[in-house]
Amino acid sequence: MTHTNTKARTWLDNMGLQHPLVIAGPCSAETEEQLLTIAHGLKKTKTTILRAGLWKPRTRPGNFEGVGALGLPWLKRAKEETGLLTTTEVAHPHHVELALQHDVDILWIGARTTVSPFIVQDLADALQGTDKIVLVKNPVNPDLALWMGAIERFEKSGISQLGAIHRGFSSYEKHKYRNTPEWQIAIDFQSRCADVPLIVDPSHMGGRRDLIFDLSQTALDLNYDGLMIESHHQPDLAWSDAAQQVTPGALHEIITALRIRKPQGDAQEFQIQLDALRTQIDLSDRQIIETLGRRMKIASQIGQLKQDNNVAILQSDRWYAILEQMIHEGTQLGLSEEFVQKLFKAIHQESINQQKSIGLQK
Ligand code: PEP
Ligand code: MN
Repeated sequence: MTHTNTKARTWLDNMGLQHPLVIAGPCSAETEEQLLTIAHGLKKTKTTILRAGLWKPRTRPGNFEGVGALGLPWLKRAKEETGLLTTTEVAHPHHVELALQHDVDILWIGARTTVSPFIVQDLADALQGTDKIVLVKNPVNPDLALWMGAIERFEKSGISQLGAIHRGFSSYEKHKYRNTPEWQIAIDFQSRCADVPLIVDPSHMGGRRDLIFDLSQTALDLNYDGLMIESHHQPDLAWSDAAQQVTPGALHEIITALRIRKPQGDAQEFQIQLDALRTQIDLSDRQIIETLGRRMKIASQIGQLKQDNNVAILQSDRWYAILEQMIHEGTQLGLSEEFVQKLFKAIHQESINQQKSIGLQK
């Protein structure tokens, strides 16, 4: 069944692929046997495209940097034996040339490459005149223009079969996720590049296999078109990204447990859009509560400092200055003064309660 939504799904529809598109395979091709074992395992799942990194861009030298061109015939054999389409990462025009020679169906551009317009342009030039499908991962830094710019460079080279992969963004502070999703950037990407299918990579986003399901579900609820998930027959023994890979069997369980909406007709189209907007609201609400939690922790630290120095909890001047500033900023964002007042009075009250409870704990 063809999935229809508000996007022109271009190559996805032309290929008659199922929704959601599933791309899976090891982080890195390690040996021919490893790749074939995984490909045959994935054949029993909803996977249509086999991924395997050959040239591995490592943040620091010394880690496994991939088998390189040696793995190209392995990918070809995996395709012949299983019928899965194949994809690998290209980061240099020479990689493009080799991948084209060996019939790799789809090429992806890695996050560390998308950041460089020079390299992206070289790759776009190398692909000019071909009909390859190119998937562009978001850049490592949260920069929508850079992501869109890379897509545009390929478009200008005549590549019309394009897709985007959202793998999250790196940050200095370590969070729950290996790469922070920053869903809003991908949502903005979706509205600015409505014709470009959007695929989530929950493996690099989460960095841990137990986070894959929730991240995939959020993406599908936001109306994404597909998933790219790292899969290895012996995940813990993988030569790269061991913590985030799942076996083909586990992948199958994840995919079958996901709630997948299949719209038929206008009524459901409305429902899908409504659900996607509600998912955005849920993400915003979660950010609000996390920010409040962080604010209260800081308030408690201030409470402790005040107590140690025997200073009164309530300091009116500071409080009125905050309120005035927030009303100023809030009204510029279209919030009413009354609302900002009520909100910050409640936040302030909770801060005072938290500061008082420090005294009570002693
Ligand atoms: C990968 O997909 O194996 C990879 C290196 O990803 P990213 O470019 O998103 O870090
Ligand atoms: Mn990887």
